[in-house]
Amino acid sequence: MKSGNKKTTKCSRCKKTGVIELSYSKEFLCVNCFAEFFEKRIRKTVRINRLLRGDDKTAVALSGGKDSAVVLYMLHRLTKNDPRSYLRAISIDQGMGKFQKGSLAAAKKLCKTLGVEHNLYSFRKEYGFSMDEVVRRTQKEEGSAPPCSFCGVLRRKLINQKARELGATKVATGHNMDDEIQAGLMNYVRGDLSRTARMGAIVGTGLSTMFVPRIKPLRNSPENEVLAYARIKELPFESSRCPYSAEAFRGTVRKAIDEMDRNHPGTKFQMLKSTDQLIKILREMEAPAEMTTCRVCGDPASGDVCKCCDMLEKIEYRT
Ligand code: SF4
Ligand code: ZN
Ligand code: ZN
Repeated sequence: MKSGNKKTTKCSRCKKTGVIELSYSKEFLCVNCFAEFFEKRIRKTVRINRLLRGDDKTAVALSGGKDSAVVLYMLHRLTKNDPRSYLRAISIDQGMGKFQKGSLAAAKKLCKTLGVEHNLYSFRKEYGFSMDEVVRRTQKEEGSAPPCSFCGVLRRKLINQKARELGATKVATGHNMDDEIQAGLMNYVRGDLSRTARMGAIVGTGLSTMFVPRIKPLRNSPENEVLAYARIKELPFESSRCPYSAEAFRGTVRKAIDEMDRNHPGTKFQMLKSTDQLIKILREMEAPAEMTTCRVCGDPASGDVCKCCDMLEKIEYRT
């Protein structure tokens, strides 16, 4: 931050007081110019990636955090004047103590403010257990996968299933630029480029009618800018971290990328560009895996049983 220097705290565009520095473009923007710039970039992400059609029925996966709050707010702005549009929010109560109460309360408040229908489902009701219970149980087992591996798969499946039941044609998620490039670098380091081939602004298209395609309107927006925008618009969101979020490897990757970007502004944008080039090459090289049907739940799977049912069986919760 170039604070203390009067000249540099003026907005580069309108000369009002600057509040946020965009180090990659050497600009300092005021609240209004930043909001306009941020919204324009999201509209561009939606337009050039063809994330939405006019008649899409979109369900926003609303966790109650800043990212999905901004997605819901922006999609509401983009679609509210189109009579064909349809926007709903889906929240999942994973059963994670106090943190979950705060995030669901924020999600509910935002939906109420915007007048968007809020659909709430829970792990307990759908799977018969909460994440707190999964963690209590799996932590006893040596070498068990981290909580996020369970939570991510179970949550994704439930959102897809409920979106399908609601008749949604797209699910919008809050993945931002930092999430995307962290995932890309993690795949690279792990030697798992088949996962990178499945990344992008829109995923899950053309695989199976059972998959509702997922779109990521914030994919070109750095996380700190999403946070700044959520605060400027005074959106309700839960700011504390999930108690189970300590995924050690992602933390290391995040720190490394943040440091590179601090020392070399613009690194994050370059990394996203490289990730996109890689996705294109990988998709051209490899045909998508054949999908079969899970013998337990009937959802699409890449083997005999889908990842979720396999996980449920492994943790012996399926009755
Ligand atoms: Fe689930 Fe991990 Fe996200 Fe927490 S941080 S909500 S455990 S995926
Ligand atoms: Zn300005
Ligand atoms: Zn299954």
